[in-house]
Amino acid sequence: AKRNGKSAYARFTPEMGEISHERLQMESLMRKALELGEFELYFQPIVDTASGQAVTAEALIRWNNPTLGLVMPDRFIPLAEETGMITSIGEWVIGEACRAASRWRELGGFDVGVAVNVSPRQFRDPGFTNTVKRALEITGLNASLLELEITERLILDNTIETAEILRQLDHYGVRLSVDDFGTGYSALSYLKSYPFDTLKIDKSFIQDVLTETDDSSLVRAIINMAHSLGLNVVAEGVEEEAQTYFLQTEQCDFSQGYYYSRPLPESAFMDWLRTGKR
Ligand code: C2E
Ligand code: CA
Ligand code: CA
Ligand code: CA
Repeated sequence: AKRNGKSAYARFTPEMGEISHERLQMESLMRKALELGEFELYFQPIVDTASGQAVTAEALIRWNNPTLGLVMPDRFIPLAEETGMITSIGEWVIGEACRAASRWRELGGFDVGVAVNVSPRQFRDPGFTNTVKRALEITGLNASLLELEITERLILDNTIETAEILRQLDHYGVRLSVDDFGTGYSALSYLKSYPFDTLKIDKSFIQDVLTETDDSSLVRAIINMAHSLGLNVVAEGVEEEAQTYFLQTEQCDFSQGYYYSRPLPESAFMDWLRTGKR
């Protein structure tokens, strides 16, 4: 970045030096994190809005590092994406998520699927669809129990390639959902041509759904549109009981948020399944 001449050096401040030092440190620690077993998946239930029963769990990655402590994904996924490490980390996530969902079925008898976040670079990696296929084969998990969450931004980026990958994944029988729906520069036409099953309404809309009439109108409109296209809807970021009444009235299929449960380590998540919904 500093190669384009003097002016670039002139803009290089001490703070930037610190930032890049922190980045370099994080990058080198991240390179070893997989083999040292420092990544962990937490699981957050996605429930049927009407019954409160869990149908899926979203897998959310955490990084336990002796130097950095517990690192949340917003702090390291962007760097993993930039450096390309997301491909191997993402492969681990998919394998681990499928193994976990198999365990819930075998150890607990729970009929609960798993949803995995897929970042753009991982999605475009030539080996991606094969990674998904292999994880299903190795774990024996039924493909319909694996859901892949893809952001709207990715979908709008690169149409021909994207369409081909989505078709392949749909062919395997995995579920496909649009994550953070409503936050992109939505060109809704993609919903018609791509094989999505579910829209996840971004939590920013759910947050003020009881106080802001704009937000409640938007949520209502998204649910109606999704249903008329044959798609399911998940409301993200449900924190209060009153929000669940609104979502029940509007017939939002599924809900996720702190009201039901925070993301939990696997053993705590299985306890949550056992003792039942709240
Ligand atoms: P996301 O996919 O939108 O995931 C939902 C985020 O909202 C999670 O944050 C979750 O803990 C949080 N959340 C859940 N319920 C509530 C609620 O009621 N209120 C509020 N305020 N927040 C709630 P988290 O775990 O920190 O993950 C942040 C982001 O990191 C995720 O956003 C996702 O984009 C990314 N991410 C997480 N795990 C992975 C992964 O394995 N691979 C990739 N590529 N990205 C991941
Ligand atoms: Ca997600
Ligand atoms: Ca499908
Ligand atoms: Ca989301």
